[in-house]
Amino acid sequence: MQMKSEIAGKAAKQRHIQRNIDAKDKSKSKAKQQGAMQAGARQYPEPPFPEQHQPKPGKEWAIEPAPLYDAPYYLGSKKLDGKVALITGGDSGIGRSVSVLFAREGADIAIVYLAEDRDARATKSAVEAEGRRCILVKADVSERDECRNAVAQTVKAFGRIDVLVNNAAFQIHSSEFAELTEEHFDTTLKTNLYGYFHMAQEAVPHMKPGSAIINTGSVTGIDGSKALVDYSMTKGGIHAFTRALSGNLLGKGIRVNAVAPGPVWTPLNPSDKEAGDVSKFGADTPMKRPAQPEELAPAYVFLASPHCSSYITGEILPVVGGY
Ligand code: NAD
Repeated sequence: MQMKSEIAGKAAKQRHIQRNIDAKDKSKSKAKQQGAMQAGARQYPEPPFPEQHQPKPGKEWAIEPAPLYDAPYYLGSKKLDGKVALITGGDSGIGRSVSVLFAREGADIAIVYLAEDRDARATKSAVEAEGRRCILVKADVSERDECRNAVAQTVKAFGRIDVLVNNAAFQIHSSEFAELTEEHFDTTLKTNLYGYFHMAQEAVPHMKPGSAIINTGSVTGIDGSKALVDYSMTKGGIHAFTRALSGNLLGKGIRVNAVAPGPVWTPLNPSDKEAGDVSKFGADTPMKRPAQPEELAPAYVFLASPHCSSYITGEILPVVGGY
């Protein structure tokens, strides 16, 4: 049996351990408050951002701070030398950064976009500054004929298609499920699902073994987002489409993968969310900030290049900042 004094000594020891842990917790929570995680080659913007809201489709030139897409510390090494990539939604956001890094890796680029001429011209100049060619195709991916025309224009200009990046999307929140209209639902599905399906079906006949399709999915397609029921549905659908199509195209030597981004600082959210929410965008992620487009684009290079990912197909690569 333990003496009273021994028991008191053990309790004191426990309190000593407890005090140590409490002190460490306190200093950790102070460290946690110190701001967003920065692990990149340059410092990335952190919330709060200026409050802003834009009409659809969003314009990159009007966002503050301007999204970072040109990855100045990323060196190309001919990973896509001589290839041709068709990138939907390539005028802005993730698509713009993918266009620039693909060009830096040696690819010519065809950009499909809905209406943002000024953004598209800026991306074209950025691709040309990398020493590659770029054509702009204004087309609505929800329309089969326009997808067929976009593919035809790409083949006419460059003679081939090696990489298709399905990336164009429509996203508008609807907090109340009952208020999600048929028109809204239809527009989301037609853009995000039919658009990817049309583009893939039109492009595949022109793609040789070694080609790749990369679809942009989303963390919402994995977790769901309560104010984006329709959009989350399409993103989950895109993930399933990726896996199913990868099996289907195996015999043709065409790899099919997806990137699933978390929050990224692009025109998509300022043209969706209310101004106050845009200000806090990305703050609730483990890294406490949204990604910049240039933090996503290398994942697309990896999945596009046969030098990097020749044994990878049917995968969904999350780039979600530690979710
Ligand atoms: P963005 O606004 O820069 O890109 C969206 C693009 O879609 C625009 O270039 C627009 O021209 C194009 N588009 C819209 N409707 C179209 C149509 N009917 N026909 C042709 N083009 C059309 O935004 P982004 O964030 O770079 O979006 C790129 C992709 O990333 C999308 O698939 C989006 O769902 C996905 N994504 C974005 C985030 C984010 O937080 N920004 C998160 C997860 C996934």
